[in-house]
Amino acid sequence: MLQAERRPFPFLFLHFQRRCRASTAKNRYILRGCRTLKSCLRRPHFKDKSSIMSAQTIAVHLPDGAIREVPAGTTPLDIANSISPRLAAVSVIARLTPLNTAAASETDETQEITSDAAMYGAGDAAAPRLVDLSTPLTEDTHLALITERDPEALKVVRHSAAHVMATAVLELFPETKLGHGPATDQGFFYDFYREKPFTPDDLAAIEAKMAEVIARDEKFVTETQPRKQALAEFEREGEFMKTHFVSKFTHEGDQVGFYRNGNFVDFCRGPHVPSTGRVKAVKVTNLAGAYWLGDEKNPQLQRVYGTAFFSQKDLDAHFKHLEEIAKRDHRLLGRQLDLFSIQEVAGAGLIFWHPRGAMIRKLMEDWMKEECIARGYSLVYTPHVMRRELWKISGHEGFYHGNMYTPMELDDAEYRLKPMNCPGHILIYKNSPKSYRDLPVRYAELGNVYRYERSGTMHGLLRVRGFTQDDAHIFCTPSQIEDEVIACIDFAETVLKTFGFAEFKVELSTWDPADRKTYAGSDENWLVAIGSLERALTRKGIPYKTIKGEAAFYGPKIDFKLVDVLGRLWQLSTVQFDFNLPARFELEYVGEDGERHQPVMVHRALFGSVERFFGVLIEHYAGAFPLWLAPVQVGLVPISERHHDYAHQVKKELEAAGMRVEIDGRNEKMNAKIRDFANQKTPYILVMGDKEAEAHAVSVRTRAKGDQGSIPLADFITRSAELVKTQSTDL
Ligand SMILES: [Zn+2]
Ligand SMILES: [Zn+2]
Repeated sequence: MLQAERRPFPFLFLHFQRRCRASTAKNRYILRGCRTLKSCLRRPHFKDKSSIMSAQTIAVHLPDGAIREVPAGTTPLDIANSISPRLAAVSVIARLTPLNTAAASETDETQEITSDAAMYGAGDAAAPRLVDLSTPLTEDTHLALITERDPEALKVVRHSAAHVMATAVLELFPETKLGHGPATDQGFFYDFYREKPFTPDDLAAIEAKMAEVIARDEKFVTETQPRKQALAEFEREGEFMKTHFVSKFTHEGDQVGFYRNGNFVDFCRGPHVPSTGRVKAVKVTNLAGAYWLGDEKNPQLQRVYGTAFFSQKDLDAHFKHLEEIAKRDHRLLGRQLDLFSIQEVAGAGLIFWHPRGAMIRKLMEDWMKEECIARGYSLVYTPHVMRRELWKISGHEGFYHGNMYTPMELDDAEYRLKPMNCPGHILIYKNSPKSYRDLPVRYAELGNVYRYERSGTMHGLLRVRGFTQDDAHIFCTPSQIEDEVIACIDFAETVLKTFGFAEFKVELSTWDPADRKTYAGSDENWLVAIGSLERALTRKGIPYKTIKGEAAFYGPKIDFKLVDVLGRLWQLSTVQFDFNLPARFELEYVGEDGERHQPVMVHRALFGSVERFFGVLIEHYAGAFPLWLAPVQVGLVPISERHHDYAHQVKKELEAAGMRVEIDGRNEKMNAKIRDFANQKTPYILVMGDKEAEAHAVSVRTRAKGDQGSIPLADFITRSAELVKTQSTDL
């Protein structure tokens, strides 16, 4: 229990505490004629002094470790104000984590606690839940004030903006029936039913009306109504969607919770910002059709999308960010720069690498192969299609068959395309006896795999049906795990840094020992593996987040999420343990003791998928690849016909230095040729006229800095060769 001393508290709070906590939590003031705690305090209708003695203060634990002893009924807003009015002004909601739910469940108060929890959608009363700042605190609890800077607050302001939108729509178009209005990743929407579709003018009017609702700064207050009454009213008003939601999400005998702002009332679990004025910046973005409950036999709804922020500055930044994302879309740039295509006639999710994209892929793959060899891996190749029997042994037929292409029948057996490279590498390992002296064995392959994705789910290079993994499998003894993992982490860091990603986040996915049956392998194996991964990350000094229960059934793993130039996270590199496949394939090595042992296996992929990594690279660089990766590094522009000979001589010299060069020999204006190379995001454009030919020089334009003037060709070659060698992003 609590260490803090319980201090006496004012009388009046006791009255509030004892009398106004009647029936359900939310309408306690209203039932007793007290709309707020303040008014309750002013109207002491409490008579029985003996119960004063049994009432209690509650302990509110703050994130900094401080414990506030306050009368029950105190709100998070009261606490925020007691800390500082400025904190109160930026607080949006509060997160409560009850301290002693188990003890409380023996008392009458449970009724209130659980009904509170249900009201806010947290099924488990012991779980943290988000509440309004005006929610009275009823028990000992941890309390964190969520301010406008917190991502959770953004969802709340967006959902509150959805109420503002519905308020505006009903004021403008009173005949409209309401669906629901959740927050989304990018904003919010509200579903409406109205026979006449909204026009663009209507949307503009809705946005203008929303500004009025916001300016009115209406308080969001909670109300309750008996379920039967609520349903009857909704039915009478033809609110078929609300009737559905209330029937579905509440039970017979419940008090149904509503939020009111001004005259608008919505069935909702909250939480909300304190008032409509806190929705400071809002925009209606678009309109889409959606069938009620996704069934085309049902009425068609109008889904109006919008987004909201705590400031106009944030809203402007959001739209600028979206614009930037759209400009960098790898599907668009893939077409513009002629890097790859996906062709209807060949099928969805299958990638054609065009010469320029294929050049970048070759550079990525060459780099990866050299790096593997330097780090003690052996390169291998395994077949694309193998007998079905093999996939039965590996277990893919059982747990992975939904992602595999269907079997094809040949004269001797059925065969399946490989969805993973692991069984192939295992067959190579098994092909000869191994001793502890051979371990670790590291096999690497740029292996093409085929996985079935539902049609309609493919997305450019990011989600495909055929792709290339930079896949490797390490077979080692348990005592070698830690060093192998450190080497993998080091390798992953090198990949990300080399390709221009300075920042990444690391997650360690472990098992949930309470859910033992979900996981293959012995307890001892799991503990050794998780311990090794943790120690490896600690030794490397890498901060990481542990995610319990997220491990694959066959072992724990480390995932690397790179952060691109727009701050987006991409899951690419992964290092995974496996206790399952070595057992299924009865892998062995002879130990120092002369006995047979089972090796541990690590799967690791660092690009992850070459296709996906390429897609991320395109978006990260917006197609302006660093010099060492650019498919054409230098574009040559002879000013006129008579400079062609010199241009060819320059090309020869550059190619001898290993550069990738293209001449624009068309009979076009110099500026048109420069523009075309610039549109292809060519790092260097060299212009050549009489002066350059005479001095054996080139006039240099860089992608980033424009015209740099004439320099001797030899100097240009030295400088650019150095940039390529160091994989620099400079020009
Ligand atoms: Zn709501
Ligand atoms: Zn594998």
